[in-house]
Amino acid sequence: MPLGAVPLPAHPTLPSAHGGQHDGIFMNIGAYTFSQFHGIAEEFHGCAAPGLLIGGYMVELAKGMLPEGTLFEALAETSKCLPDAVQLLSLCSTGNKRLHVRDLGLYAVSLYDKKTGLGVRVSIDPAKLYAYPEIQGWFMKEKPKHAQDIVELEREIEEAGHSICKVQRVQVDKIFLGHGHMGTIGICPRCGEAYPLDHGPQCLGCQGQAPYTTLDPES
Ligand code: ZN
Repeated sequence: MPLGAVPLPAHPTLPSAHGGQHDGIFMNIGAYTFSQFHGIAEEFHGCAAPGLLIGGYMVELAKGMLPEGTLFEALAETSKCLPDAVQLLSLCSTGNKRLHVRDLGLYAVSLYDKKTGLGVRVSIDPAKLYAYPEIQGWFMKEKPKHAQDIVELEREIEEAGHSICKVQRVQVDKIFLGHGHMGTIGICPRCGEAYPLDHGPQCLGCQGQAPYTTLDPES
C-alpha cells in the first residue's frame, strides 16, 4: 500500500476513546474559542449552523494531522455548511479553486497535499454520537428543526469537539490535483463574451447550458 510509505504524524489531540470533556478544558477551533468561532460563523454564513460549528472542529483536526507547512487543498463531500468551515479556517476557497465540493451527501472533508494528493479525511462517526443525544438528533435528522434544543445542541458540540470524528488517511484522486489551465480564450460569436475555445465553436452558455433565461430583449 503506497500510503504506508508516507505516514502522517500522529496528532497530539486525537479523539480519545471516551471522547467528551477533554479533562474539563473545551477545545478551541484553531485560533478561536468556540464562542469566537460561533460569532465568525454567524457573520459569514448568516447563522452559526450546527454543521458549521462541528465543521470547524473537523477542519482543524484535519489541518493538525498534515505535516507542518503542507500546501493543502480541501475536498468536501457535501455542499452544506462544511465548505464554509473550510473557507473560514484555511486559505482554500471555491474562488481560488483550492476547495473542491463533490456533493455525495456525506458529512466529510479531506485536506490533502496539493501536489501528491496525500492527506486525511475527517467525517462524523455515528457510532460516537451515543453520548450526545442532541447532536445525534440533529445529525441523523431524527427531530424536526423546531423540536431541537439549540442551546443544548451547541453545548454538546462544544463539549464533543472533534471526539465524534473519524479520521482516515487518504490518497485523493488525481482529478482534484493541480488546476490545469484554461487554454486559449476567444470571443463567442453568438453572445460576444470571452470563453475558453476548447469548449467548442460557441460558449457553453450559448450551447444551451446557460442556467438562466435573459429577460431583456437585447442582451
Ligand atoms: Zn456565447
